[in-house]
Amino acid sequence: MPCRDLAEELTAAVAGAVQKIFGFATAFGPLLTDLAFAFDAAREQYHSTPILKRLAEDAPEWALKIIALVEVDLFIPILTHVYGEAQLGGKACIVSSYRLNDESWRHNAREKFLQRMIKEAIHELGHTFNLRHCRDHRCIMHYCRSEADVDLKSEELCRYCRILLLDEIKKLTAW
Ligand SMILES: [Zn+2]
Ligand SMILES: [Zn+2]
Repeated sequence: MPCRDLAEELTAAVAGAVQKIFGFATAFGPLLTDLAFAFDAAREQYHSTPILKRLAEDAPEWALKIIALVEVDLFIPILTHVYGEAQLGGKACIVSSYRLNDESWRHNAREKFLQRMIKEAIHELGHTFNLRHCRDHRCIMHYCRSEADVDLKSEELCRYCRILLLDEIKKLTAW
């Protein structure tokens, strides 16, 4: 993150949103400090899939899900870049601030950046709870091709996705 207090504000904001949408407690700390293993020299970007694999392996056992917030530009081979990636129904997901932090904003730059990061974080976490892409463009599970798409969607799940999430959480927490 560009500065320390923004990073703290970001993690606090994401934690608050995660708690609100998923109802689980969150904890923050450094996990993967060196992403060199995922760097693609030809593309000068980081391949997100091997990072997810490593995150899932390194996650503490008590963690139900793990999300990494990174600054580097991420890609998967079929796309020029991604805002994030998730293991569908798995443990790990990742979100990058690289494309979401637009310095051309004059007003509310900070607030807008935080909102975008929250939306993409919830979106990727949603995938780890087995949620697929949603056609409702206001739904947080809507697939966004541009930053404008991200700005357009709300910070909420649509009714349909909310029901799917509750079902999934019920399954996860049933003993
Ligand atoms: Zn998605
Ligand atoms: Zn939806």
